[in-house]
Amino acid sequence: MVSRVIPVEPFDLVIFGGTGDLARRKILPGLFRRFIAGQMPQDAQIIGAARAEYDADGYRQFIKQSLFEFGPKDVPNDVTEAFLSGLDYVAIDAKGTNGWPELAAKMRDGHVRAFYFSVAPALFGDLAERLHSHDIALPDSRIVVEKPFGHDLKSARSLNATLAQHFSEDQIYRIDHYLGKETVQNLMAVRFGNMLFEPLWNAQYIDHVQITVAETVGVDGRGGYYDTSGAMRDMVQNHLMQLLCLIAMEPPAKFDPDAVRDEKLKVIRALDPVSPHHLVRGQYGASSDHPDYRAHVENPRSRTESYVALKTHISNWRWAGTPFYLRTGKRLRARSSEIAVVFKETPHSIFGPEAGSHRNALIIRLQPDEGITMDVTIKEPGPGGMRLIDVPLDMTFAEALGPEVGEVPDAYERLIMDVIRGNQTLFMRGDEVEAAWAWTDPIINHWGETKDVPKPYDAGGSGPEDALMLMHRDDRKWREIR
Ligand code: NAD
Repeated sequence: MVSRVIPVEPFDLVIFGGTGDLARRKILPGLFRRFIAGQMPQDAQIIGAARAEYDADGYRQFIKQSLFEFGPKDVPNDVTEAFLSGLDYVAIDAKGTNGWPELAAKMRDGHVRAFYFSVAPALFGDLAERLHSHDIALPDSRIVVEKPFGHDLKSARSLNATLAQHFSEDQIYRIDHYLGKETVQNLMAVRFGNMLFEPLWNAQYIDHVQITVAETVGVDGRGGYYDTSGAMRDMVQNHLMQLLCLIAMEPPAKFDPDAVRDEKLKVIRALDPVSPHHLVRGQYGASSDHPDYRAHVENPRSRTESYVALKTHISNWRWAGTPFYLRTGKRLRARSSEIAVVFKETPHSIFGPEAGSHRNALIIRLQPDEGITMDVTIKEPGPGGMRLIDVPLDMTFAEALGPEVGEVPDAYERLIMDVIRGNQTLFMRGDEVEAAWAWTDPIINHWGETKDVPKPYDAGGSGPEDALMLMHRDDRKWREIR
């Protein structure tokens, strides 16, 4: 099996914030990988636009360093140089007039125009306005915007309204890089490409769903921002909600942007408010080599959470009665993101009580080691009677697909190429983002109103004790973080 790389149309991609952390670590190394894979057309043009006073050569040298640090290894120098020769740079002021005529002069007729807003959201309005006043944006140009998309419902609405003054919804690509992961798309293929799962995909057969996004890092280097955000805003409102939607949505009529996003939106709107009894917040403690959260953010009285666990329900026919458990946190035992769809036990065990309790589980692992496995119950091999064990059935089929399938693009690469192709399926629509805030706002407001103090938890552990209790009370348990 050979993977197919279909080159995209010629494009001009302007990266506002082209000298920033995200551009250096993700966007440019991602574009470089697509270049190596042969997906970039010859005359693609990538223009960094930021405040620093580089000329094009200076910018290429600056990015060369980032490619060494964050790009693929052992790439021949002539390949790197060929990629760099397609880079250009404009020193620009998002809030002033500097650089805009120069940028306008660099745009080419007949190229798809995409503008990546890799800058603070406070600049989105200025960029959008200037792209129009300098006649740089065309009716089919695209803009890419990063998280955080707002701080709450009100600010998200205002950001949507600002962008809508200059761009139509089908020009706006709100990135959630979780949606660009290979396994997340494979999840949709498994759900909607097989007859096997869909009949079982409901409250009658599924006991519960648990979604975990665990990190080992603390707030390193982002303390100032993080302390105004917290895990609920930084992770749950976007990444975990998107994963929940893909698990819970009805089959869309077709795999097209609005059909998929309509179904996701219905899930968010059907989410029950979360009871305070089903919410746990935590803050990580110190370890021998790391300060605790409050020291890390230099705010000794901070009440911001670095961990959240919660239980929610989706009030519709498919899911009534099946709880969804979500948890995410920093400084945990392992870096691990996975969704576990845990099926019910068989209604009656013909093997008697000594066979123990067994449940099938579909595990969608996003990192590390992306893949999908299905825990199935089998007889333990060998003599000694009918003993049952659960073993994972690997559904990633790496062997069946063969080594020629090649490296799968990482999330950013795939999503940027989707922008150039004009495919919004894996991007969030404005109403989805607003609905997600409408669900998270009351939770965050409740914490503020009650002056809730997050529970401390051990760095390198699996989160606060109360989060374990959230499951234990329901006679269930979290999967181990590993
Ligand atoms: P950064 O602070 O490293 O870089 C900001 C960039 O914006 C710089 O290139 C700077 O020159 C440019 N800039 C600032 N003010 C400007 C102005 N007035 N005119 C023109 N350019 C200006 O930020 P970052 O970490 O790269 O993040 C960029 C955006 O992406 C932010 O909205 C951030 O929340 C989001 N984001 C970042 C990451 C990440 O891993 N870094 C992850 C997710 C989302």
